[in-house]
Amino acid sequence: MDLGIAGKRALVCASSRGLGRGCAEALAAAGVDLVLNARGEEALARTAAEIAAAHGVAVVPVAADITGEDGRTRVLEAAGAVDILVTNAGGPPPGYWTDWGREDFLRAIDANMLTPVMLMQALVPGMMTRGWGRVVNITSQAVKAPVAQLGLSNTARAGLTGFVAGTARQVAPHGVTINNLLPGLHATDRADALDAGVARAENISLEEARARRAATIPARRYGTPAEFGAACAFLCSVHAGFIVGQNILLDGGAVVATL
Ligand code: NAP
Repeated sequence: MDLGIAGKRALVCASSRGLGRGCAEALAAAGVDLVLNARGEEALARTAAEIAAAHGVAVVPVAADITGEDGRTRVLEAAGAVDILVTNAGGPPPGYWTDWGREDFLRAIDANMLTPVMLMQALVPGMMTRGWGRVVNITSQAVKAPVAQLGLSNTARAGLTGFVAGTARQVAPHGVTINNLLPGLHATDRADALDAGVARAENISLEEARARRAATIPARRYGTPAEFGAACAFLCSVHAGFIVGQNILLDGGAVVATL
């Protein structure tokens, strides 16, 4: 399917690896020029070069912490007037509900709620003026079904979800859509880190921890960044203009719910 977005320009945050990279790859395959971001300069430069070589699009890497004001300013300066925004950042650490103090909550809210809100506030007005735009926020399955040990994530992402629910309706008349993609378990470094925690806690191998978690998913496997990216690119396509303010779960059926 021709996604109809060749020649458009996208900012994909936190995209040197994992789900962000999956989104960047799929947009590049659709002919979209990219501004990519991550903190680690070397891995980001490598990813940018690989994507540019594979898809023949322009790729500008900006090494910066997207959750900090300085980093965000540098990324936004490089991005300029983009048509597509994919927000993403690392997820907060796991723990028990009494583990976290005010500073921990503020860090999580900053990274996984206020950062996407600030990025939308910076970039969506231009999209509205130009009459076309797409925003996809990478959130989490935890928005629909809490993961108990990810209380910081449950909390921060619920706030972003509420913001998007209202805002998406305000910008839709101007040709701009905002939607959230909710990953369940995907095979990325983040999933490896969480699996390693399970392996340590239960005194089992990493492979055993992975197999046990995969067995809880009706699809009996983890998702891939490529599958995730393809869904993201579709939401950014010309065909998705009537999809507004939705929370789309990509979880292999893990969340058991009729709706
Ligand atoms: P990942 O494999 O660890 O990749 C994270 C990417 O984000 C890397 O490129 C990393 O590069 C970059 N990054 C992290 N913090 C950043 C920051 N402050 N500023 C700029 N770049 C940053 O993670 P992932 O699995 O793709 O997860 C992406 C998001 O989806 C996370 O919020 C995660 O909690 C959520 N999620 C993932 C899963 C899953 O199963 N994978 C499930 C539910 C939710 P640097 O480290 O170099 O900055």
